[in-house]
Amino acid sequence: MKDRYAVFGNPIGHSKSPIIHQCFAEQTGQAMEYGIEQPETDQFFVRATTFFAQGAKGANVTAPFKLEAFNFADEVSPRAAQAGAVNTLCKLPSGKIMGDTTDGAGLVADLQRQFGDLTGLSVLLIGAGGAARSVIGSLYSAGIASLCIANRSAEKALELANLFATYPSITGVGLANIPADNFNLIINSTSSSMTGLLPDIDSELFTQAKFVYDMAYKDEPTSFLQWANSINPTLRLSDGLGMLVGQAAESFYLWRGVRPDIEPIIDSLRVTL
Ligand code: NDP
Repeated sequence: MKDRYAVFGNPIGHSKSPIIHQCFAEQTGQAMEYGIEQPETDQFFVRATTFFAQGAKGANVTAPFKLEAFNFADEVSPRAAQAGAVNTLCKLPSGKIMGDTTDGAGLVADLQRQFGDLTGLSVLLIGAGGAARSVIGSLYSAGIASLCIANRSAEKALELANLFATYPSITGVGLANIPADNFNLIINSTSSSMTGLLPDIDSELFTQAKFVYDMAYKDEPTSFLQWANSINPTLRLSDGLGMLVGQAAESFYLWRGVRPDIEPIIDSLRVTL
C-alpha cells in the first residue's frame, strides 16, 4: 500500500498541492498518494485524528486551519513555534505528530533562485498577517540586514516587529509612515492582489528598489507587480508561484527525506495557471 498524505483546507478544491506532490513523487520515484481533505470549519481536529489513525504519514494544512494544526501537533519545530502556525504535519516513528512551517523556507528558496544571495539586503515587507509572520525568521536566517514591516493596521506591524525584536534593525509602521529608506527588496504579503487592489504605499519606494516579490500568484502579473513595473521597468519582479512550489518541496523533504527539483514543476504549473 502506498504511503498516504493530503492537504487540509476549506475551501480546498482549487489547491495545486495534489498535482505538485504527484509531480514530486514521480520525479523522485516515491510510492505515495496525496489527496484533499475539506473538513467543516469546526471539524479539523476530528478529521485529522481519523486521518492519522487510519495510517496516514503526513499532511499539509492551509487556511483556515494553520492555527488549529499548530494546536493539534504533539510537538512543533522552532520555526513553527516562532510563526505560531503549522502548514506541515508529519507522523514520527514514535507515533507522535510533529508540526512544522515551510512557508519561510519556500519563500527564501524562491528569492535566492531568482534574485541571488540575500545577504545584507534591506527589505520592506508589506502586510502583517499569517504569511508575513511565517517568513520573518527565514529572511533573517538568509542574511538580510534589516526589515521594515508595513501594514494597513499599523498596530499589527508594530506587534510583529516586537515579537521578532531579537533580530537586528526590525521596525513596524503603518503604510503611510514607511521611511524613505532605499529598500533593495520589497515583498508584498498582503492579500490585496487576490482582488486586484493595491496597498496604499508611496510609489516612490519602487524607484530605489531592485527586486519586488508578490506572494500572490495569478495567470497574469498581479496588480502589485504591474504597478511596480509601471513605476520602475528595471525592477526584477516575481509572483509567489515559486514560493508555493518551494514550501511544498520542503514539506516533501520532511516526509520523504528527498529534495525534489522545483524548477520543472514551476514551469509546468506556469503553463496551466
Ligand atoms: P492574512 O489574512 O493573515 O493577512 C492579510 C494581510 O493583508 C493583512 O496584513 C491585511 O492588512 C492585508 N491586506 C488585505 N487587503 C489589503 C488591502 N487592500 N490593502 C492593504 N493591505 C491589505 O493572510 P495571509 O498572511 O495568510 O496571506 C496573505 C497573502 O499571501 C495571500 O494573498 C495568500 O494567498 C498569500 N500566500 C502565498 C503563499 C505562497 O505559497 N505563494 C503562502 C502563504 C500566503 P490588515 O491587517 O490591515 O487587515
